[in-house]
Amino acid sequence: MNTVIEGHPRHLMNITPRPEAVMVRGRGSWLWDSAGRRYLDFVQGWAVNCLGHSHPAVAEALARQAGELLTPSPAYHNDQALRLATRLSALSGLAQVFFANSGAEANEGAIKLARKWGRLHRGGAWKIITFQKGYYGRTLATMSATGKPGWSSMFAPQVPGFAKARLNDLGSVEALIDSGTVAVMLELVQGEAGVHGATPEFAQGLRKLCDEHGLLLIVDEVQTGIGRLGTLFGCQRFGITPDLMTLGKGLGGGVPLTALLASASASCFEYGEQGGTFCGNPLTAAAGNAVLDVVTEAPFLAEARTRGEQLQAGLQALQHRHGLAEVRAFGLLQALELGPGRHAPQLAAQAFERGLLLNAPNPGCLRLMPALNVSAEEIEQMLSMLDALLAAQTLERESACALSA
Ligand SMILES: *Cc1c(COP(=O)(O)O)cnc(C)c1O
Repeated sequence: MNTVIEGHPRHLMNITPRPEAVMVRGRGSWLWDSAGRRYLDFVQGWAVNCLGHSHPAVAEALARQAGELLTPSPAYHNDQALRLATRLSALSGLAQVFFANSGAEANEGAIKLARKWGRLHRGGAWKIITFQKGYYGRTLATMSATGKPGWSSMFAPQVPGFAKARLNDLGSVEALIDSGTVAVMLELVQGEAGVHGATPEFAQGLRKLCDEHGLLLIVDEVQTGIGRLGTLFGCQRFGITPDLMTLGKGLGGGVPLTALLASASASCFEYGEQGGTFCGNPLTAAAGNAVLDVVTEAPFLAEARTRGEQLQAGLQALQHRHGLAEVRAFGLLQALELGPGRHAPQLAAQAFERGLLLNAPNPGCLRLMPALNVSAEEIEQMLSMLDALLAAQTLERESACALSA
């Protein structure tokens, strides 16, 4: 079925190269473009659609809520936000929630809250230790917190106060702590960096270090939260409780809904210090409630863990067959490190041509983040498509070698 497209990409700002295809419809693990071509989606909007595209529970909650109430103003309570905040608090053990619209905005809120807390409880300390290769978003402060190469000069001057430690190197964190430090902020699995995980020992050591020095531990669960790592929150997998936690991506099941959660002692905003026009609107909160209904009902997460094991085993089989470097797997957030002579963005582009959506966060690896309810058959289908692509690349390389020999 073809869809007629009105409009032209020249009216969109140039923020990223995109293929010509125009996406018009999604269901579960599948996406369709305007020419009727079908794609098996192992990107899912960068781990956003935790229940797949247009899950009926999310679509129905949105339709129902759209007919009831969209935005009464953040100056009034609404039923959906109250219910979602209460549930998130009970599930996380963190006392209070602030809703936002992007992961960056939630992290920005965490940074502000930490600075406020430092003013109240740590003699004005305001600096936050973050991590090399870490990713926290695209506002000025979160870009400054981010440890991506080249980002420190992109929109100079930076927001000051984000010294970068190394993941899994407690000494590198300790060395950066001084009297001006108020918090440590990290992703327990660095997603944008290519799925590099903290060890449980490091995570627990960091919790202890923060307690010893009176620092807040901020865990950015924008990518790892809501079942992505096989537990509702990633920190549960690592056996720690942070003081602040941010959620995003999967929380809204496809709509812009994010959250900042804080323990009772860390939650210190006063009137006028934090807010936002669309923050906590009932439309997106209704989607969040629908997502939690599905994800927290057994055996949903157990099945997601089983699918994660299946995907990991399948990727490891490809690794051995094609002589690839490494598989890194945390629930349904996984990466295939290709090793020398292969180029991940090229592979992802070839996959796209064959109707498979894969993400290459850097030239060396593919990142896989399917829907948490992806089926066993869809995983097998993806693996066989990827197998064929890798084999074709091998052939290409061999014939290139033969030609140059
Ligand atoms: C995606 C992401 C963000 C930014 O979220 P946006 O919604 O794009 O602002 C922040 N932190 C992590 C770990 C992320 O994966």
